[in-house]
Amino acid sequence: MIKEHGPIGRAQVARRSGLSPASITKITGDLLAEGGILETDTGESSGGRRPILLEINPTGGYVIGLKVTEYGVIGVLTDMTADVLEKQKDSLEGTSPEAVAACLASQVDSLCHAAGIPREDVLGVGVGLSGLVNASQCLSRQNPFLGWRDAPIGGLLQSHVHVPVYIDNDVNTLTFAERLFGHGRGVDDFIVVTIGRGVGLGMVLDGQVYSGAHGGAGEFGHTIVQEDGLLCDCGKYGCLETYVGESGLLRAAAECDDLPAVRSMDELIDLGLAGNKSAMAIFATAGDMLGRGISNLINILNPSLILISGEGVRAEEMLFDPMHAAVEKHTMPVLFPDTEILVDPWGDDAWAIGAACLVLGEVFRSPVQNAVPSAVPQMSG
Ligand SMILES: [Zn+2]
Repeated sequence: MIKEHGPIGRAQVARRSGLSPASITKITGDLLAEGGILETDTGESSGGRRPILLEINPTGGYVIGLKVTEYGVIGVLTDMTADVLEKQKDSLEGTSPEAVAACLASQVDSLCHAAGIPREDVLGVGVGLSGLVNASQCLSRQNPFLGWRDAPIGGLLQSHVHVPVYIDNDVNTLTFAERLFGHGRGVDDFIVVTIGRGVGLGMVLDGQVYSGAHGGAGEFGHTIVQEDGLLCDCGKYGCLETYVGESGLLRAAAECDDLPAVRSMDELIDLGLAGNKSAMAIFATAGDMLGRGISNLINILNPSLILISGEGVRAEEMLFDPMHAAVEKHTMPVLFPDTEILVDPWGDDAWAIGAACLVLGEVFRSPVQNAVPSAVPQMSG
């Protein structure tokens, strides 16, 4: 709560949490002693003594976030406000869970060493993975790029690093980051759509990240947009990803006689941004398909905010103008005006920062949210 609403006074924390002022004094006293929070500038007073405000102490601890791609690991070491102090990229030397765990552990060591932070000051390591993840069991249920089924990657890494390890689907980790520090701060119903190697979806519904009964919710890229359409990596035909994901875009590019050979979405984006009409047409089709999919999400979930993220945001208007047009065309008119769509600027380390936020989310969850309210929370204002 101090993270979400800080700087905030003790009285407000008590009011919002429903805990007694005495409990809040005890909990915040413990947090101050541990260095987790700071007392900061005094706030506005409505008469009488000016209240002392509390906020997160950025250097109260450190966390590490690691994103595993099909080629390597991108890692960051951050402070408690997710500011990056050190970042690194390594290649994978093998794709077995054991080999990847060893690579992750070695990056944890080298991030700590480079930042001059002792391992015991690291509060936890978060790992973002593609595919289906059972976060509570620290299990990668299915990773399409590494060929894993039920890989105990969290436990393997924990046995190397001896600090708490948290894993989740990479799009969920980005969603955590938006919830803690980004546009989703204080927003109870929003979704994150990512465009990159695949097409991902993270959901915050009623204030909680939603992952489904078995961690498999959000496979937006595998919703069917074209009956008898193109074959997808998942084995089905006509998935959204076959139009909007990287391999779908590259397949469309390969079928264009007047396009030079392209090896990545980045190269195709560069061609389009330079004015190549065929490349622009591929992104226009992708944007239209994406917009249809997003309109379905709005009609089902009625989010107040949709954040578009991922490597594909570099395609800018050639993707997003047709996307916006399709969203407006296909969304129920009564729901359309209630939904804001924002395209997030993309940084190389965004996935890894998201993974770090997985740990920060756990750290900030306790102890106020774990305490039992002494009374029904009062309405503020
Ligand atoms: Zn599919």
